[in-house]
Amino acid sequence: DSVFAQIVRAPEDPILGVTVAYNKDPSPVKLNLGVGAYRTEEGKPLVLNVVRRVEQQLVNDVSRNKEYIPITGLADFNKLSAKLIFGSDSPAVQENRVTTVQGLSGTGSLRVGGEFLAKHYHQRTIYLPTPTWGNHPKVFTLAGLSVKAYRYYAPSTRGLDFEGLLEDLSSAPSGSIVLLHACAHNPTGVDPTLEQWEQIRQLIRSKALLPFFDSAYQGFASGSLDADAQPVRLFVADGGELLVAQSYAKNMGLYGERVGALSIVCKSSDVASRVESQLKLVIRPMYSSPPIHGASIVAAILKDGNLYNEWTIELKAMADRIISMRQQLFDALVARGTPGDWSHIIRQIGMFTFTGLNSEQVSFMTNEYHIYMTSDGRISMAGLSSKTVPHLADAIHAAVT
Ligand code: PMP
Repeated sequence: DSVFAQIVRAPEDPILGVTVAYNKDPSPVKLNLGVGAYRTEEGKPLVLNVVRRVEQQLVNDVSRNKEYIPITGLADFNKLSAKLIFGSDSPAVQENRVTTVQGLSGTGSLRVGGEFLAKHYHQRTIYLPTPTWGNHPKVFTLAGLSVKAYRYYAPSTRGLDFEGLLEDLSSAPSGSIVLLHACAHNPTGVDPTLEQWEQIRQLIRSKALLPFFDSAYQGFASGSLDADAQPVRLFVADGGELLVAQSYAKNMGLYGERVGALSIVCKSSDVASRVESQLKLVIRPMYSSPPIHGASIVAAILKDGNLYNEWTIELKAMADRIISMRQQLFDALVARGTPGDWSHIIRQIGMFTFTGLNSEQVSFMTNEYHIYMTSDGRISMAGLSSKTVPHLADAIHAAVT
């Protein structure tokens, strides 16, 4: 008998499980709105032109090799990633108060940050918004932190529960870690306004809470890299400390290359360099050193003015297509006279719409219309096209009438 005979089957990941079910469906009209990955109007994955060109250059450059890179990753990549999120004129970067290490996309960067905090920070509690990306509680629990929740989304308005958020963060013990989605909150698509961010900042600083930003969608929310980084930069400008996990999965379409970065902004360059020495001790036994290919692509694009401009144009085109899908879906529901207020579809930001559909309505749409999404009613706008909007609108209409 197998020594593993006692092992029970684990449940499918709730998000990736949607794709498993979708793949099994033979229907020609099936639609996968579960995954958070960009698709073209033709429903195909997109490799950015600028990425293709840089990859060609890398392949043709015979001076390049496949040696291990340092534990902390490519130095150029790290420096340029810090500039991308904090701004090229950021005093924190200029004063060398930031340590940046390459990570295995957003997830790996969150995990390394979490383990560092569990080992070295005086408070072990991290507050997550309700709801949040399903992987957050698991990542931080396994990193050794204790996970608590703060109110974020108000189902009644399909907007921000700002009062609840302020109340919950006010009553968090001093020093607690607070996870903040830098922009394009997943799964709700609801972000605070800049004025609300300023109030959140004041509260966090007055209670000596430690902000940990998850920046998985920079440039994807508004189409502007700088605008989407504003909340993070607000917190850096006050001179206080914070962590940021960045991902290049969405904004450069490098999903499977697993490219990201963790930055820790400190009060002095001396502290930052000691923090970095400890980050190495977290990373080394975990995966030794990060992969070279994706980080080389990102560094080449961020380093070169022309490539950078080309990237921002392609990024804006992706963001604009998503925004146009919001408008088309909203218009299609209005045209059908679908009961209810659907204005949140055009109010919400980023890759996802939190439709407000309940799990029975979601099951109905899957069973009757072959439309796949997570059971919380989150749909990926990036998975929609002008051709599939009518089918989705028909399904939503039937589900709520
Ligand atoms: N944070 C959030 C909020 C996300 O939505 C995602 C991607 N779904 C991630 C982090 C991490 O993704 P990745 O590890 O692919 O960069």
